[in-house]
This record gives sequence, C-alpha cells and structure tokens, in this order.
Amino acid sequence: MHEASAVEAVVRIVDQEVRRLDAASAGPAGIEGNASTGETRATKVRLVVGEGTGHMEASLVFYFAVLAKGTRAEGAELLVRYVKPRLRCSACDQSFERQRFSFNCPSCGGPGEMTKIGSEFYVDTIDVENGPDPAALSQAV
Ligand SMILES: [Zn+2]
Repeated sequence: MHEASAVEAVVRIVDQEVRRLDAASAGPAGIEGNASTGETRATKVRLVVGEGTGHMEASLVFYFAVLAKGTRAEGAELLVRYVKPRLRCSACDQSFERQRFSFNCPSCGGPGEMTKIGSEFYVDTIDVENGPDPAALSQAV
C-alpha cells in the first residue's frame, strides 16, 4: 500500500523533529529550570492530506500506529485534516471546489483543470510532552 511509505516518511520527520527539539533543550548542563527528565515525545501529530491523494484516514492512522513503534512518535495521536481539491476553469479562470462526479466550472460549465490544492501531504504541527515548551513545529514532507 502506498500509505505505508507515506506514513513512514511522516514518522521519520516527527522522530527527527522531536529529537532535534530534545537536543536544543538540553543546553549547557546545570541550568536551572531545565529539569526535564526522560525523552521528549510527540503526543499529537497533525497531518494535512489532500483528498486527491486518495489516502484514507483509517489506513494512515493504522500505519502510523504500527510504524511509530520504537520512535519518538510512538503512542502519538494522528489527526488528519483533509483538503478538498480545487479546480481552475480553463474558460473563465475561476477556481472552484470540485463537485461530486463533475470537473466542470459551476459558473460557466467550462472544463476544470486540477490545481495543486488537493494533493497536499505534509506534517502541519507536532505537539510534544516533556519538551522545553509545548512547541508546535512545522515541517513539510
Ligand atoms: Zn468557468
């Protein structure tokens, strides 16, 4: 399944980002207020997914739970936000949300062309626990 490799990339990014945050927070030893023990972990991962990718949320969540094992993403909740595809009319240049069963422009009926909107697949934010602060990271896949 293509979801597996897509989710693998997500897990890798989350793991890397959380580790980087951990390293950044370590700082010089002996600084007060830096009593963090244990490892920083991701608690929530928000994913932005274009509907045009065909990725199903249930599969993404399933693979995430499996592939995150042993990484800093293990046990994190995966939240998927879907983006509806938008088309651009090649006749009147209007951009519109794709209608069910139709690619045609709602105002002039002209043929719609796919845009990049709807093919997204990236990590939007990562919530962590035990970090320096509940930072939200942004990282494109
Ligand atoms: Zn049109």
